[in-house]
Amino acid sequence: MNSYQMYIGGEFTSGATTKMMDVYNPATGEVFAQVPEATRQDTQSAIAAAREAFDKGDWRHSTGIQRATVLFKIAAALRENATRLAELETLNMGKPLTESEYDLADAATCFEYFGGWATKIFGEVNPVPDNAISMTMKEPVGVCGLIIPWNYPLLMAAWKLAPALAAGCTMILKPAEATPVTVLELAKILDKIEELPKGVVNIVTGYGEVAGAELSENYSVDKVAFTGSTEVGRLIMKAAADTNLKKVTLELGGKSPNIFFADSDFEAAVEGALFGCFVNQGEVCSAGSRILVQKPIYEKFVEAMIAKTKMIKVGPGMNRDNKLGALVTTEHLERVSGYISKGKAEGADLVYGGERLGGDLANGYFVSPAIFAGVNNQMTIAKEEIFGPVASVIPFEDEAEAVAIANDSPFGLAGAVWTRDIFRAFRVVKAVRAGILWVNHMQPTYCEAPWGGYKQSGTGRELGRYGIENFLESKQVHINLNEGPMGWY
Ligand code: NAP
Ligand code: MG
Repeated sequence: MNSYQMYIGGEFTSGATTKMMDVYNPATGEVFAQVPEATRQDTQSAIAAAREAFDKGDWRHSTGIQRATVLFKIAAALRENATRLAELETLNMGKPLTESEYDLADAATCFEYFGGWATKIFGEVNPVPDNAISMTMKEPVGVCGLIIPWNYPLLMAAWKLAPALAAGCTMILKPAEATPVTVLELAKILDKIEELPKGVVNIVTGYGEVAGAELSENYSVDKVAFTGSTEVGRLIMKAAADTNLKKVTLELGGKSPNIFFADSDFEAAVEGALFGCFVNQGEVCSAGSRILVQKPIYEKFVEAMIAKTKMIKVGPGMNRDNKLGALVTTEHLERVSGYISKGKAEGADLVYGGERLGGDLANGYFVSPAIFAGVNNQMTIAKEEIFGPVASVIPFEDEAEAVAIANDSPFGLAGAVWTRDIFRAFRVVKAVRAGILWVNHMQPTYCEAPWGGYKQSGTGRELGRYGIENFLESKQVHINLNEGPMGWY
């Protein structure tokens, strides 16, 4: 069994107490690795290492080229080790191997993309009306706490580490307790990069209530970048407000509408509905879990969804035939199953799936993808984020009703609209209050384009130029060009 250590101040360590926690393979229910359980004190050591590296080290004064070199080296090492890391991601998280391979490639691309930004951070000259030069200079925000979820373990780490490094920050990364393995493998990669000073990147494993809470409460942390649930996002913002008002960016949950008009390309639409909702076992923040279908095609659409879902193979992610793997933990399986029961109890019509899989799969956390028809937007399964393969199919009459249902949610992360009418597509894009809108597609994500939510889906944006701005402060500098006293008295 693999046993891992944390990475603090450029050293691998098991922490002060050497207490270890088990990491499970969700496809078998077996323990496959152990990682240290960080205490508050361990987290404080990591924060102190990052603080010292920021305040006394050279990293924040390094050139863009120096930081870009580090980022490109990380990307190259990820690509070299992609096969092994993708396997570990699947063993730890449960997703199909092909998806882990995509994630690895995306993570490497993310480091390359922000490697490009490292040399393109510059301020501006402000056109003030006096005889003066007013400039805005950009500086790294400081020590950053990076807290990430379990659904894309290495990719979510890349989304935060890459821009923070490009900006010249120092950081402490806390992976989710269920999925620390690939992030700790990344620590080994970082350790070999000579140009990366000790203490710039620190990695602590352990519980959110301990390590995560310390990062959000600690006065030496200048910023927290968080991806996870709305519930925990609220705690982090509160902790920041109650302590040092550290900067906070939040990427939170969603209940995204995927809207299908009667004129859409039917085959593409059905595939888009299923992919949008079931990819990555539905453990996707932008999952199109509310499938809104216009009444003239509703019946036919639900039938086609059922027929196609029957073809989707569920099983261990290591087997390339499987399109859906195991859910991440046994607790999460129970949570998802609880929503399925609630859907039935509230009168939605479970027309397919939603069962825990037995036989060979009985020890793993497998559930068959579930389709609920006849859902109305007030039911729990349409209101709350399930974060599993559960589709709620909701009928609608016309465009106005589709938009009203789409917007009737506390969330606003993403949405999609399917139609051949470009005028309607743009009307819906403008009317839906969400941070990402797809037309005739769902889920493509690029590090070149901003990602984040309206309403309770978060605050701030990651990726694109917003991604780098998140880790920068703006300093206004005024240079007086008048000689002599200004004549105040
Ligand atoms: P979560 O329970 O909120 O956990 C996210 C991270 O926060 C984990 O590292 C967790 O540690 C930590 N944490 C837990 N309690 C904490 C506390 N009191 N203080 C500080 N940190 C704490 O979410 P999850 O179950 O891992 O992930 C699912 C959620 O993430 C969904 O709601 C999904 O929509 C959201 N998500 C959003 C995006 C996006 O871009 N908007 C992307 C992916 C996922 P532990 O693991 O130890 O509990
Ligand atoms: Mg937890």
